[in-house]
Amino acid sequence: MPFLCLQRVCRVPLFSCLWWLGLVLSATVARPQEKPSTISLDVDATTISRKILSARESFPVASPSAHTLDLVYPKWIPGNHAPTGPIADLVNLRFAADGKNVAWARDPVDIFRFHVMVPAGTSSLVADFSLVGAYAPGNDFAPGNTSTPVQGDVNWDQLVLYPADTIADQVTVSASIRLPDQWSFATALPHPSQQGGTIRFDPVSLTTLIDSPLMCGSIMREFDITPKGVSQRHLLDLFEKSPEGLNLPPERIAAFRNLVSETGALFRSRHYASYHFLVEAQGETSDGLEHHQSSDEQVPELGMVSPPFSAEAGNLLAHEMIHSWNGKFRRPAGLATTDYQQAMVGDMLWVYEGLTSYWAEVLGARSGLETRAQVKDRLALYQAEMDTRTGRGWRNLQDVSRSAQVLYSAGQPWSILRRSTDFYREGPLLWLQVDSILREKSKGARSLDTFAAEFFGPPDGVVTVKPYTYEDLVAALNHVATYDWNSLFQGDLLATRPTPVSPGLEAAGWTVIYTDEPNQAAVDAESVSQQADLSTSIGLVIDQDGTIVDVAPDSAAGRAGLAPAMKLMGVNHRVYSADLFRQAIVNAETTPQAIDLLTLTDGYYGEFPVDYHQGLRSPHLARIPGKPDLLTTTLQPRRTD
Ligand SMILES: [Zn+2]
Repeated sequence: MPFLCLQRVCRVPLFSCLWWLGLVLSATVARPQEKPSTISLDVDATTISRKILSARESFPVASPSAHTLDLVYPKWIPGNHAPTGPIADLVNLRFAADGKNVAWARDPVDIFRFHVMVPAGTSSLVADFSLVGAYAPGNDFAPGNTSTPVQGDVNWDQLVLYPADTIADQVTVSASIRLPDQWSFATALPHPSQQGGTIRFDPVSLTTLIDSPLMCGSIMREFDITPKGVSQRHLLDLFEKSPEGLNLPPERIAAFRNLVSETGALFRSRHYASYHFLVEAQGETSDGLEHHQSSDEQVPELGMVSPPFSAEAGNLLAHEMIHSWNGKFRRPAGLATTDYQQAMVGDMLWVYEGLTSYWAEVLGARSGLETRAQVKDRLALYQAEMDTRTGRGWRNLQDVSRSAQVLYSAGQPWSILRRSTDFYREGPLLWLQVDSILREKSKGARSLDTFAAEFFGPPDGVVTVKPYTYEDLVAALNHVATYDWNSLFQGDLLATRPTPVSPGLEAAGWTVIYTDEPNQAAVDAESVSQQADLSTSIGLVIDQDGTIVDVAPDSAAGRAGLAPAMKLMGVNHRVYSADLFRQAIVNAETTPQAIDLLTLTDGYYGEFPVDYHQGLRSPHLARIPGKPDLLTTTLQPRRTD
């Protein structure tokens, strides 16, 4: 519209206004966006330990007249389900046409888009830029520049510009990377050839490049975990901070090999030529991003070898690998965008993430990465978490899925009321219900395993995306067993839940009870997070320095007026510690006196008597007498090798 166009020009600085005016006058021919044959991308990662990477990109252009070339920086990153492209960290951007600097301007509305002036007769346009620091602290979902002096993780989406309005599959990129001396690397990119410290790759589509991160480091070990009889190679590439972290026990290596076998038994196909688990052990928390032919994971230092981190790492690796089928090959239509600028629709994340989380539990147990008891503890924890989610009273799982693009970075405070990315917690319980219904309806002959082989099956060995809709999903389930799946999903997804319910566990023959006995999965999670999670008892989650990070509004602590960001200073007139607080909760079971808490907030002390006398309530699964135990049946191994 002319009005919008005028407003757009006036919002850019004077220099840009004049440049734009000149550009409008000089560009006599309106031309479609150029589709360069092959983009050349050379990354210098020799400074990765300083958390700075540099890139040079060449775009062949052949134009007799001056024009603008619009280049874009990836904004919506697959697997992040959000516009998390780290545009603020793209620095030192310069363009040159046949060796001479040329002007450029960022689009005033879409700041991921750059208008570059290409003079008449230009044959080659070169972009130089750097990426600093990558992801901002606090965005703990996406792996970013997690480099240390001995390791690094290169995500190509952070290091590439590409022509606007093009389909990523149709853009070809010839990439190379220079690494620090003596560093090893691993990636799913095909045919690397190394000369000195530079590795060159065969040209691939932009889609494949961005789907194939590269991990590198000086302390590395590669484990071949290909099961006998499987034609695709499966490698576990571990980049550690400490050499002792590379010493995976033989039984752990065998469990990862079992995981590969179990994925074959479940899906009956593989949508990759080979698969790499790319694991960087360096941080304090676990994080992962899925790809077609590799994972990209960060785990704590020594995280693959020392409990409790190794149990969580096993679950994480299983989760990301399952995404190769559920998320990469079969993808909800709203997430199957053709470039990285188009907004994604997260409505079906309760399938993409929820079903993946369910199968991560199931295959974790089937492969031996986790014991059945660990998986049951975790399911009890998921149910308990959902039971305390006050936010389920105003917001359903569908709304949570649709809001994922902001919930990942919403932070922990008030998440019990706000809700978080709960499809990772509520999803497994929903899919356990689906699995149990399938088993019950077919008298054990069919299950979600049947659905997995039908929905995520052939073609084998081909990397491709096959989008699906909600209707496709319902039809596929009906093909396994006829049932009113639509009513089930609409009831679960659209209903708000003011009261605790656990239809998933109950369908599988189990329920949740609360006792004084610790839940081992919760203990492990607290070891990793360094937080005291008392949300199922007094109603608080507390950081290791005593700061309240979340409160259940309808718990005793919530009713007493406690809130996130308050720092606990004292418990019953003694200096606060987590152990002392736990003991005070236990002692209060046998006394009518309230627990006195002293807080410090914004420079003010506060006193809060909390009237709570039910002790440390930890969730556990308990059998429902007389109902078949479908959960234990589901967790049985299926591999035959
Ligand atoms: Zn996931």
